[in-house]
Amino acid sequence: SIVVTGATGHLGGHVMEQLLEKVPADRVTAIVRNREKASGLAARGVRIAVADYNTPETFDGAFSAGDKVLLISSSEMGRDRVAQHRAALDAARAAGVALLAYTSAPGSLTAALADDHRGTEEAIVASGLPYVLLRNNFYHEVYTEQLTPVLEHGAVVQAAGEGRLATAARADYAAAAVAVLTGEGHENATYELSGDTAWSFAEYAAELSRQTGRRIPYTPVPADVYTGILTGVGMPEPLAVVFAGVDTAIERGELAVTTGDLSRLTGRPTTPIADAIAAALKD
Ligand code: NDP
Repeated sequence: SIVVTGATGHLGGHVMEQLLEKVPADRVTAIVRNREKASGLAARGVRIAVADYNTPETFDGAFSAGDKVLLISSSEMGRDRVAQHRAALDAARAAGVALLAYTSAPGSLTAALADDHRGTEEAIVASGLPYVLLRNNFYHEVYTEQLTPVLEHGAVVQAAGEGRLATAARADYAAAAVAVLTGEGHENATYELSGDTAWSFAEYAAELSRQTGRRIPYTPVPADVYTGILTGVGMPEPLAVVFAGVDTAIERGELAVTTGDLSRLTGRPTTPIADAIAAALKD
């Protein structure tokens, strides 16, 4: 069967949707921590297994020999996410799955945010399981789902200078994961998945201005000022430092890498950032 962890999350939702267009539901298993949240998937005939990254024994029996697994990385920032992922990895190895695909971070990203992903990749490679590293650049939605403060203040405030980002839509990354899970010949591949083109926050602000008919400039600020803005709206300091570190990495060009891997895997161009902005403004 094809098994997806984090199936009730945002990325997982797109993966399940696209998977069920290609594979009969009785050949798909969703691993979730909250069975109720998966009731829609269960109603469509998807097998549901309940497991929590924080309780390794809950993964006992979650996988079977020959399964193709998508391990969607944990969203619990501040936890030991390598240990969380190892809970799933150990169970997958014990079961003898045929493939373990993992949603990682770009190889070029040195920000602290990527540390757990590098640690998880090492554990996966060391496990000896056939693997696929899906090194996802950022989602468009990381930015387009945060438009309320931008529209309120009438400015895009980031600490990324003129750095560029090659984001893509969650649905694009999901399509790449589905291509790997349903295709052949991806064993031990590392894909650097990104949008086809990288954009800067100045261009992002210009596109927002165009679509709203308002003048919304990009205001680049130093990293410490950005950290202060984030803590000022209630973000815990350690998390604010991580986000500022991401912007510093963007300024250095670490998210600007475009390999074309994503559109090659899906067979179509990635979603333009302008489309994600338009979708967000319609909500
Ligand atoms: P979501 O937060 O929507 O999904 C995370 C999923 O992980 C959810 O299904 C959640 O379960 C599940 N999960 C979290 N903690 C546990 C746990 N302890 N045990 C079992 N399952 C758990 O994030 P997205 O779908 O948007 O993104 C997927 C992952 O990609 C994120 O978790 C994060 O690692 C990474 N990410 C990447 C970004 C990028 O731009 N490339 C941006 C943000 C995150 P539940 O549905 O019950 O909440």
